[in-house]
Amino acid sequence: MNHTVTCIPGDGIGPELTEAMKHCVEATGVSIQWDEVNVEWGDSEGNLAGIPNTLIESIRSNRVAIKGPITTPVGRGFRSLNVSLRQMFDLYACLRPCRIFPGSRTRYDNVDVVIVRENTEDLYKGIEYPHDGPFTRSLIQFLQEQAHETIAPDTAIGLKVISKAGSERIVRFAFDYARKKLRKKVTAVHKANIMKYTDGLFSQVAKEVAGHYPDIEFNEILVDNLCMQLVMRPEEFDVLVLPNLYGDIISDLCAGLVGGLGLAPGANIGHDIAIFEATHGSAPKYAGLDKANPAGLILSSVLMLDYLGEPEAAKALEDALSRVILQGKYVTYDFKQHREDPGSVGTSRMAQAIVDEIRRA
Ligand code: NAD
Repeated sequence: MNHTVTCIPGDGIGPELTEAMKHCVEATGVSIQWDEVNVEWGDSEGNLAGIPNTLIESIRSNRVAIKGPITTPVGRGFRSLNVSLRQMFDLYACLRPCRIFPGSRTRYDNVDVVIVRENTEDLYKGIEYPHDGPFTRSLIQFLQEQAHETIAPDTAIGLKVISKAGSERIVRFAFDYARKKLRKKVTAVHKANIMKYTDGLFSQVAKEVAGHYPDIEFNEILVDNLCMQLVMRPEEFDVLVLPNLYGDIISDLCAGLVGGLGLAPGANIGHDIAIFEATHGSAPKYAGLDKANPAGLILSSVLMLDYLGEPEAAKALEDALSRVILQGKYVTYDFKQHREDPGSVGTSRMAQAIVDEIRRA
């Protein structure tokens, strides 16, 4: 079958990783036409959300996109384009499998965790007011008068937004995923002992949804305890379902368990649109150096091939990557004990080794 996929190279290390990923996907023999759209932060073609209309139209018509990372300035300027895209297309489920590929540099030997992160609500909703704004002053006054809250006048405010419907669909997604992939346990992660109404709602809904999946084990854990347990006994976790911000942080923690950000893939999935992207960002210090690990984006393309109904190509690509990592001959610096190890290769050489493995199989 022919597929058309929107491809967004992004910036920083994005363009070189995207080239490597396309090279590997094409080697599987799947017929994909790439509808390439460039977008950078502050794009002058951008609409109000900062996303060029050409990109919005391309994603709407192709329904599937794969993207490199896009830089977001800290504490100023546009909202993250990555977050805007997820909200614009209501890509409510962020799927991030983290498993150890033998040969990668990790302190553990048995990690196979799938993170299901809620992608549209929570503090990530971006409802924030600056410390010196007139609306913030009115809001503080309102909260003092109506709710007897004591808030210092120089306070910036952000809203943690968690809905029943939003919690229900992400927990259902986690259980459906677990069932489809023959996983045994779903763990809901929150901090409901402190945030009784927001995380409390997430916890309550998770318990209710779990009741509809008696074939899958369910438990809950507080997010701070989870951090400790993951570092001590990661093999005890299977599928984790979390609100947005905890999901973001735990994703990087789990990437660290399996060998680093360079190995962590991701998918943002909605009702009938999906955007695939690695967990890592644009790593500006490595931009243009042909140095970064392409595995995160290549593994994201494995998720994409699966989503497109091409499971054999997905398996061929994942197996080829696995073999290249195991052989350890053509791998990037982050697989080595020391960053300057002369035995490491660049992004494009590692991708070529994966292509060669696909052809050899
Ligand atoms: P980052 O993920 O870009 O890099 C952190 C460090 O991780 C790097 O310095 C590098 O040592 C390592 N790393 C990351 N990707 C790697 C790879 N493929 N191979 C080898 N090593 C890799 O995180 P950051 O420095 O916090 O963020 C840089 C920019 O990226 C920021 O503007 C941030 O907002 C943006 N960002 C974008 C996305 C996205 O597009 N979805 C996601 C996260 C961060």
